[in-house]
Amino acid sequence: MIELRDVHKRFGAVEVLKGISASVEKSEVVCIIGPSGSGKSTILRCINGLESYDAGDIFVEGARVDSKAPSIVAIRTQVSMVFQRFNLFPHRTALDNVVEGPIYVKNEPRAEALERGRALLAQVGLGEKAGAYPAQLSGGQQQRVAIARALAMQPKAILFDEPTSALDPELVGDVLSVMRKLADDGMTMVVVTHEMGFARDVADRVLFIDGGVIVEQGAAKPMLNQPQHPRTQDFLRRVL
Ligand code: ADP
Ligand code: MG
Repeated sequence: MIELRDVHKRFGAVEVLKGISASVEKSEVVCIIGPSGSGKSTILRCINGLESYDAGDIFVEGARVDSKAPSIVAIRTQVSMVFQRFNLFPHRTALDNVVEGPIYVKNEPRAEALERGRALLAQVGLGEKAGAYPAQLSGGQQQRVAIARALAMQPKAILFDEPTSALDPELVGDVLSVMRKLADDGMTMVVVTHEMGFARDVADRVLFIDGGVIVEQGAAKPMLNQPQHPRTQDFLRRVL
């Protein structure tokens, strides 16, 4: 569903992605782990065209991702993104945040979008909060609204960029359980995370990235339990 071939990206003189090759199959959950500044967010942003890349190719279901081409609009509706800081519109209710994309980007009839939006809020455990404004919700609730908003676009895949890193510890579990449910339902997911328990239990594969390269990748459990590369071993020793 998603393929990166030898992707390079530089910011000014600094090359932050130095030849990333990876693929994500339909219904697969791939976790990306690695130290701060290693290029994890940049990979996600290149996949859905929020950033351009300088060399290599990225394909989503066979369509080449080009952040400057008109086709990027369609790719962004197919690949939703959930950010660390939920990025909800503060002056709109939870439900309005969820239906914004379907109504204004996908031109869905308003009544249908609202009905589906309510169902999605119920799915993430917020059926009672449709009329609440972001400021009236906890961080974990806001992040679940953001996940419902991503789902409202009926995406083929969702990219999560440290979805629980901004949350108080007691709110992390609810968000992770919503994500776990999505994975069980077959959603294709790429998740940048420091939640190693989630990676071990839910991910099919894990990529460890350091300094703009994939240092090690493999099936989640063996790789997290017995990393082969010294840099992976060192990283996991520090985060576990
Ligand atoms: P991670 O998500 O793994 O912490 P990022 O992908 O955000 O890492 O960043 C990788 C590197 O690229 C970092 O050194 C960061 O400072 C740099 N970087 C990211 N975005 C920009 C930008 N818009 N302009 C300049 N440098 C950037
Ligand atoms: Mg990041």
